[in-house]
Order: sequence, then C-alpha cells, then structure tokens
Amino acid sequence: MEKPQYAFFEGKIVPISEAKIDIRTNSLQYGTAVFEGIRAYWCGDEKKMFVFRMREHYVRMLDNCKILFIQIPLSIDDLCRITVELLAKENYTEDAYIRPFCYFSSTRISPKLIDMETDIFIYTMPLGDYVDTTRPLKVCVSSWPRVSDGMTPPRGKISGAYVNTAFQKTEAIRNGFDEAIVLTSDGHVAEGSAMNLFHVKNGAVSTPPTTDDILEGVTRDAVITLLEKELHTPVRERKLDRTELYTADELFFCGTGAQIAGIASVDHRTIGDGGFGPVTKKLQHIYMRAVRNKLPGCERWCTEVKT
Ligand code: PMP
Repeated sequence: MEKPQYAFFEGKIVPISEAKIDIRTNSLQYGTAVFEGIRAYWCGDEKKMFVFRMREHYVRMLDNCKILFIQIPLSIDDLCRITVELLAKENYTEDAYIRPFCYFSSTRISPKLIDMETDIFIYTMPLGDYVDTTRPLKVCVSSWPRVSDGMTPPRGKISGAYVNTAFQKTEAIRNGFDEAIVLTSDGHVAEGSAMNLFHVKNGAVSTPPTTDDILEGVTRDAVITLLEKELHTPVRERKLDRTELYTADELFFCGTGAQIAGIASVDHRTIGDGGFGPVTKKLQHIYMRAVRNKLPGCERWCTEVKT
C-alpha cells in the first residue's frame, strides 16, 4: 500500500487524497508559512517506532509561528498526540519523516501577516537517507549567501526562505558537488543548505553561533549534548571563517534529514584524509543509537508510537 495514506488537515485526520488546498491560499502565493521536519525511526529488532525529539520540534515551530503572527489553536501536547496518531495509522515498518506546515489559509490577495485565517496540516512519508551518510560528501561553498535575520529570518524555518536553500543546493549539484556550505552576508560560515555544520581542529570542536543566520537545529543541540556527555568533548560556538574550513581536521553536517554526514572535501580541498574523521565516526554511531532509543540516558528524546 502506498504511503502516506493520511494527513491531518483542517482539524482532523483525513485520507491524503482529500487534503487539498485552494490555489488562492495566501501562503502559497507569498511563502509565508512555517514548517518542521521531524524523523521517526523504526527499530526492526523490537518492532517499535520512535519519534526523535518531537516536542523540541514543536516548541521551535510555535516560536516561529509567533515570529510570523501565525496562530495555531493546538498545544505542544495536541501536536505530539496528532503526530503519533498519524504515524500509528500509517503503520510504518520503516523510517519515516513528518512534515507539519503552518500557513495563512486565507484566499485573500496581499502579502501580509495579519487579519487572515491560519491553519496547520501535518503529513508523514517514508524516508531513508536524505544525503548519503555511507560516504563523506564533496562540498562547495555556495555563491549564494544565506538570507539574514533582517531579511527572511533563517531561524524562522519559513517556507519562502527555502528559495535561498534551493539556489544553494541546485548550484552545488549542477557543479558536481553533493552539498553546499553557505556563508552569511558578511562572509562567515553559517551552515549547510539544510543542515548545521561542525568543525574539528586539533581536538577542538566548534560550530557557528545561532546569531550567524543559521536554523537553531534540534540535531545541532543533540550533537552538542552527545559530544559533551558521551565523548567528553566541549563544543565552542564561535564565528568561523571560510578558510578555516579548508584547514579543518574534520567537518560534518547534522540535521533531522541529514543525520550525521561526514565531509570529504570543500572547494576541492581534502578534509583530513578524505574519509570519515574519528569524531564524525564516533558521533554517527552514538547518534544512530540515540534516535532508536538505544542510548542510555537519552530515552527522553524518543517517543514511542504505539499502534
Ligand atoms: N539548517 C537548515 C536551513 C535546515 O533546513 C535544517 C533542517 N531542518 C537544519 C539546519 C537542521 O535542523 P534540525 O536539526 O532541527 O533538523
């Protein structure tokens, strides 16, 4: 049976074929929606599914709705309950992805954020690797700078801001790379096209600060915790220059979609020996245990989907 079969749409769970929006929908015209991407992991050995850090994603989503004046009449608990219900109805036996989307459902024409109806839909889909995690990636620095907080805030996970991401990812692929690293408009390292970035040099791990036009990643936060608690490696949040990328011992991306993805080269400069570095390798292993509720101490991050 093809999945997904259901969506949460206009206040209830309906067959996905009935979840259709009007072509005049205001957010479709102007990209003024806030969305999330959440993963659920299937554990074949236990025949159980766990949603990873669901609550943190919904906390971020409601914060971002506030930035855009989008009002959703659902609490974090409601959103978590609906998500688990949707996943249970799909009866997945593979990893899945959840896409909540908060938008101006009004059909009135005008790019503004007030005096319009708002709504939320949620759907799920099967999803394996978003980027290849079995080999380190060939990466370029994008010629398209990241949108900034004063333009279309990257913190907001705003649908329209992903035009910027689409330019970056497309340019990278067209030029023969797997992914892009994007810079802020003042030339500092921000993140990947749709993932956060970590830098390792002489044992010191750094990542750009949340004020450098990044999405405040839920995975980034998990990685900082795992590095500190499991690998006893403190992480410094600091500004990173482009050329620090070229001389790094290790670089890796992280994100809900990307998970932990190693980087083999940046702009044709080999990183380390071009393979997975030791920190990346250890973190990949720990992270994949954490998301499947197999890492003692991290159980609070995993919500079981009971069917
Ligand atoms: N940056 C951007 C621009 C993203 O789209 C994503 C994916 N949501 C991330 C970083 C990673 O964030 P998270 O770990 O919360 O998925």
